[in-house]
Amino acid sequence: ARGSSLTDFADKIGVDAASLVQMLFHLGEMVTATQSVGDETLELLGDELNYVVEVVSPEDEDRELLESFDIEFGADEGNEDDLVIRPPVVTVMGHVDHGKTKLLDALRGANVVAGEAGGITQHIGAYQVHTDVDGEDRRITFIDTPGHEAFTAMRARGSQSSDIAILVVAADDGVMPQTVEALNHAKAAGVPIVVAVNKIDKPEADPTKVRGQLTEYGLVPEEYGGDAMFVDVSAKSGINLDKLLEAVVLTADASLDLRANPGQDAQGLVVEAHLDRGRGPVATILVQRGTLRVGDSIVAGPAHGRVRAMLDEHGVEMAEADPGRPAMVLGLSSVPGAGQNFIVVEDDRMARQIAEKREARERAALQAKRRVRRTLEDFMAS
Ligand code: GDP
Ligand code: MG
Repeated sequence: ARGSSLTDFADKIGVDAASLVQMLFHLGEMVTATQSVGDETLELLGDELNYVVEVVSPEDEDRELLESFDIEFGADEGNEDDLVIRPPVVTVMGHVDHGKTKLLDALRGANVVAGEAGGITQHIGAYQVHTDVDGEDRRITFIDTPGHEAFTAMRARGSQSSDIAILVVAADDGVMPQTVEALNHAKAAGVPIVVAVNKIDKPEADPTKVRGQLTEYGLVPEEYGGDAMFVDVSAKSGINLDKLLEAVVLTADASLDLRANPGQDAQGLVVEAHLDRGRGPVATILVQRGTLRVGDSIVAGPAHGRVRAMLDEHGVEMAEADPGRPAMVLGLSSVPGAGQNFIVVEDDRMARQIAEKREARERAALQAKRRVRRTLEDFMAS
């Protein structure tokens, strides 16, 4: 919580910032909700609220927990010779109604080979497509969660989930507030942007205007001497989707070193998860490093288990998933949260031990929050 605002702190412990301001006032400290608060203030609050203020972040705590099992999340990929190119992981961002969903559907649909698994695609939160670039078969992974909760959750947890952002801008509408917001998010995360100027099938489309507008925000098209690739597309009519995929691959090749060691135990992120009536907990994971195999013992957030089966976005069973591959995993003990990490460990016992420790910690945090809320309510009532 160090250095964060009172509002952030209030959010973290699940209380109203205004009550904290009032309590601090009562304790003789004038603090506004947006002001950043120091450890002493937090400790002062903690004393009053009967709450052990954690100066350690949950991420640090988890790192320590894993260390005690001799595990490092995101460890070095190992020997240079063992690295292979992995597909870029892409998220689609942009203003509402500019065509994000339509584009994700079109890209997925265009890639389903007729007859493949009956052509039935499933929304599992992520999918992979193939595209030909200079005669080479290249793969791209798309994160495709409704509302992009996973992306937000992953970002909140400080984990880098995507390598490239496709910024969708409708050519009939131009740059809008959420376009700028998305642009700033991607920039802050250091994620290269490919612009999909969408809806060019519309008579009122003005793709040149979009280029001019984004140039003003520092996103300069290649054709204007900048380094961002802009592709005019129509998600509706399927125009230039192959060009967009190519632009993603070229951008990845030009500005990123996307390599991973498939020989390691797998690690990655939970993209989304739910409880399926027939299949039990089902989690779509993204393998970020190593190779995940059926039979592996894994821990995903506070869930653990052995990978009973893995399915791809067409519902087809897979024996293994390599770096950059999304997969739906069956066999977990419970439903992990979007954005939590998953790790393959030595055996079921270790997976269970880590999961139990994480669960106990989550439970303790929840109880502490409840306690704080009650104390605060009593204080406000008095
Ligand atoms: P999102 O809010 O960004 O996910 O936008 P949607 O994908 O839901 O699209 C919003 C609306 O724009 C829908 O009615 C789509 O059918 C329409 N739309 C999306 N892409 C295109 C396009 O390329 N051309 C046209 N004419 N309409 C589009
Ligand atoms: Mg949408």
